[in-house]
Amino acid sequence: MSNKLTNPTDIARETLKQLAARRISPTPERYEELYTEISGIATRSSGHEAALLPELLNALHKLPRQSPELLRDISLIEKAAQNRDWTSIPTILSQAIESQAGQASLTRAWSELIRELVTQWDLRSAHFSHSRKQESLAKVLLNFGNYPNLLNEKLDALVRGWADGSSAAGDIDVAEPETELEPAAEGAKPSDAGAAAVGGLDWRVWRELLVQALRIGMVQCLGPFPELQEEASSLALGAESVSSEQGMDFLAQRMKKFWVQLELKRENDNRIASGLVNLLLLLSDNLVALSGEDSWVQGQVAVVRDILAKPLSMSRLYDAEVGFKEVVYKQGMLRHSLDETEETLKRMISLFIDRLGSMADTTGGYHDKIAAYATRIGGSQGLVDLQQLLDELMQDTRVMQLDMARSREELLAARAQAEAADGRVKELETELRAVSEKVRVDQLTGALNRRGFDESFATEIARVARSGKPLCLALLDIDNFKRLNDQRGHQAGDDALVHLVKVIKDALRPTDTVSRYGGEEFVVLMPELVLSEAANVMRRMQRDLTRQFFLHNNERVLITFSAGVTRYVPGEHPETTVERADQSMYEAKKAGKNQVNVAEPPVAGG
Ligand code: GH3
Ligand code: MG
Ligand code: MG
Repeated sequence: MSNKLTNPTDIARETLKQLAARRISPTPERYEELYTEISGIATRSSGHEAALLPELLNALHKLPRQSPELLRDISLIEKAAQNRDWTSIPTILSQAIESQAGQASLTRAWSELIRELVTQWDLRSAHFSHSRKQESLAKVLLNFGNYPNLLNEKLDALVRGWADGSSAAGDIDVAEPETELEPAAEGAKPSDAGAAAVGGLDWRVWRELLVQALRIGMVQCLGPFPELQEEASSLALGAESVSSEQGMDFLAQRMKKFWVQLELKRENDNRIASGLVNLLLLLSDNLVALSGEDSWVQGQVAVVRDILAKPLSMSRLYDAEVGFKEVVYKQGMLRHSLDETEETLKRMISLFIDRLGSMADTTGGYHDKIAAYATRIGGSQGLVDLQQLLDELMQDTRVMQLDMARSREELLAARAQAEAADGRVKELETELRAVSEKVRVDQLTGALNRRGFDESFATEIARVARSGKPLCLALLDIDNFKRLNDQRGHQAGDDALVHLVKVIKDALRPTDTVSRYGGEEFVVLMPELVLSEAANVMRRMQRDLTRQFFLHNNERVLITFSAGVTRYVPGEHPETTVERADQSMYEAKKAGKNQVNVAEPPVAGG
């Protein structure tokens, strides 16, 4: 760009143009870079960074622990700021923060560590002479002096080594810290300044991990194997009390034995599992054999076998379980019908045995005789003896034959009798049906029955047609009859019905009829009465019932009814009249029962 732009709007426009031309994604950072490039002026945000820097440095100087690392980092930041190298500042800063955080996680508080160091320094030890102590301390200081965290850790290990010296002197011997240390910030190489360390971890850390692995990983999982569980527990305890690397060696021996035992157990488990699978397969074979032709069960068992053929897993086991449950269910159903068949068979057999028993009773004598003959034949001596025996046998057999013939005749006669009786019964039944078809009266109450009602209603309708005189019909239903039945029994209910019909009949003229229309519903036909008169008859009936109590167990029981009264409209279907009365009775029930409701037929009808 030859001539520099000065107007911010122009610079901004050019910046956007350049972003597009160079195919740069328009992030705020990119925009800013490009803007600076075009205008030749640092953007406001870089100015801000510069302004913030003194604040940041100030804050770093105020941190509680002004370690050499921190001071070095601060000067690095200052240098970077001078060079306007903003990008490296965050890295240095995070380094400084990390080292500060590290200070907080020291292995042991410095004050405590130094106190312990002084104590151990002064103590006499069989394994560590004063000069050896001096030597190892010097080495640690030399190697880790610039790395406070590491120094803290190594000093701690050293002091502990001196303290444990009596039990396991060798591994804490710092007289031979052969390792060259390259204490990079990421951490020291496996080094030893007071204790063996593996992969940067002190063996004590490994010991701790082992203890936890045993306690959490093994002991808890070994519930089903108490001996192994106990061994794992004891190993954990052993590991915990190890205080030297050699101690770890000894523990390792025990551990190896333990692993072998565990491996054996695992193999055993596998064997048990495959044994169980085989057992299941055997069972399923057996199921198929048991279920015979039932293809449903066979198919289901095949599915289960399929599942079991694959390597075992919990989900497979679950599938197999579901499959078997269905088989068992189906088997249960089969079993049920088998049981029923068996029951029938049992009944037949016991019947057969009964029959056999009664036969044996009558033929028992012959059996005994024949048995006796058999014995005599066995012990007979000579032909004369046998001849005599045969004669007697013939005689007896003839008698037996006669007996048999007689019983057979008796049996035949009995059967003929039974057949005759059966025929008579059938005849009687037919007669009875024919007779009862003619019956018009209800057997219990003496009122007309439905058929009787139909006939007399038809007769009265015919009379209406001839004479033109009115005809009224009332339908009544006993109130709360179910309760009476429930409280006093069905017989009391029956008696109450009889009582009611008696009261009704007493209240009626000879030309009126009462019919039992349903269980506790009655129809009263009142020829030659107008509706109001018919209603009055029904109300009188109600009053009569309050005077003539129904007596049950010498107790007076009040029976009430609800009734609907209407009149027959010439020409209408008889059922229509009954329906109207029924509807009216229903209204009476709704209105509180024990009342007579009157239903005027619709005007158009008459
Ligand atoms: P509601 O006042 O509403 O008519 O009540 P309810 O209990 O009389 O009526 P529901 O129709 O519920 O019960 C009628 C009962 O009458 C039912 C049945 O047990 C009884 N019942 C019907 N026929 C006979 C019978 O011939 N003898 C006896 N003892 N009870 C009968
Ligand atoms: Mg009823
Ligand atoms: Mg009733």
